[in-house]
Amino acid sequence: MEMDKNLIEAGWNLDNSYTLLPKSLYSSLNPTPVRNPKLIILNHSLAKALGFNPQTLQGDECVKVLAGNGIPVGASPIAQAYAGHQYGHFTMLGDGRAILLGEQITPSGERYDIQLKGSGMTPYSRRGDGRAALGPMLREYIISEAMNALGIPTTRSLAVVKTGESVIRETILPGAVLTRIASSHIRVGTFQYVSNWCTIDDLHALADYTIQRHFPGIEQDKDRYLSMLKEVIKRQAELIAKWQLVGFVHGVMNTDNMTISGETIDYGPCAFMDSYDPATVFSSIDTYGRYAYGNQPGIAVWNLSRLAEALLPLLHEKKEQAIQLANDAISEFSVLFKEYWMNGMKSKLGMTWYDSEDEGLIMELLHVMEKHGTDYTNTFRALTRNKPEDTGLNHEKEFSQWYERWQRRLERQQGSVTEAYQLMKKSNPSIIPRNHRVEEALKAAVERADYNIMDNLLYILSDPYAYSPEQEEYATLPEQSSCNYRTFCGT
Ligand code: AMP
Ligand code: MG
Repeated sequence: MEMDKNLIEAGWNLDNSYTLLPKSLYSSLNPTPVRNPKLIILNHSLAKALGFNPQTLQGDECVKVLAGNGIPVGASPIAQAYAGHQYGHFTMLGDGRAILLGEQITPSGERYDIQLKGSGMTPYSRRGDGRAALGPMLREYIISEAMNALGIPTTRSLAVVKTGESVIRETILPGAVLTRIASSHIRVGTFQYVSNWCTIDDLHALADYTIQRHFPGIEQDKDRYLSMLKEVIKRQAELIAKWQLVGFVHGVMNTDNMTISGETIDYGPCAFMDSYDPATVFSSIDTYGRYAYGNQPGIAVWNLSRLAEALLPLLHEKKEQAIQLANDAISEFSVLFKEYWMNGMKSKLGMTWYDSEDEGLIMELLHVMEKHGTDYTNTFRALTRNKPEDTGLNHEKEFSQWYERWQRRLERQQGSVTEAYQLMKKSNPSIIPRNHRVEEALKAAVERADYNIMDNLLYILSDPYAYSPEQEEYATLPEQSSCNYRTFCGT
């Protein structure tokens, strides 16, 4: 009884609409308890937005829940089934180490999945241990929160709890559970799973559920499944454009790691690009650069084509016509992507109205940056601060010429040049989660239980467009270039 009281006071307000879907879409089970749960970090502002009392959520009863040692009132825990193309190969996956506690209904009536990641084995674990290590879970916490602050749709991180147990990877590591918040965990791979292994009724049920949850505006459309496909394509085009604009390399764009909601998900081998180079890859296992920075829009099209395939029976009763509709929808991606990307790039350079020179100006700058390997974020940062000398390109003739043309272009538009620089400030982050800074914070946290460096980093990353004096030192590059920075999937 006491436990229930504390949990209710904490603000748990769970619904379980996903469990009303056909049983083949999930397995009901509780998280596996851990030995000695200890709260490492709690996201107070996110907790409040979700309707939790952060103080109560930090209490022992709630920390037990965040570790999987207790079940909150109203929860109906499940592991979700899904499939996916991993590096092009289709396979059955599912939540192998995650449990969805339920959907938190916030004070403003929004619905968010509350999922524990690293919460033990499930029927979908295959050869995995169902667990996660502290370093990678803190890494997901830092980068997902940085992405959110950058204004990029993403799953969020509510808490990380240390389990008091070890996990075995290449070495023995401390275990942890991350509480992940998402507007849903429905993936391209969820549709692939149902399309391949379930009935047409199940496919209808999942599509109708998805429309109700994410696209209520199209519910009455005559061709609502086609409308849904088009909406997903649009959201992904906008999302990937935002990634490209800040130099984010996701690293593992398998179809199971692409959401229907348009949120970034799965922070495994991701990292931010330093030197501008479209071939940038960080993941140690992405040998052929399938998921390189410059390939991300193309891979999105490939993944969305897999979604369209899964939806074919819902698009039209005649297969040829269904394929035609799907192809037409998919071909919209590149148009939409280009539009989002161009608008974003123009804002990064302070350009407002249309000028026939714009695209050329953008491409030329990127060309000079690539040729000289200048830092992506800091080049735009230097231009934003009106310090072209900080780009490291000032003595390059092609840059000086570009700079003059760009300045003339800004003078030609309506509004003052000051306004242009204000737009740039809103569009170019002063800081990103630099790989060496993230590593430094994780090392202190994992090896020395020193969380100060991480707390400072999180604070600095919470307002990336501030251009505050305290951000200066976080904008500096590592002494040795981190071009050879490698990320590992063994999380
Ligand atoms: P990811 O590479 O994180 O997208 O994971 C791909 C698949 O592997 C998903 O089905 C995960 O649930 C599963 N998986 C990853 N790590 C583990 C683990 N330690 N134990 C069980 N399943 C895992
Ligand atoms: Mg995944």
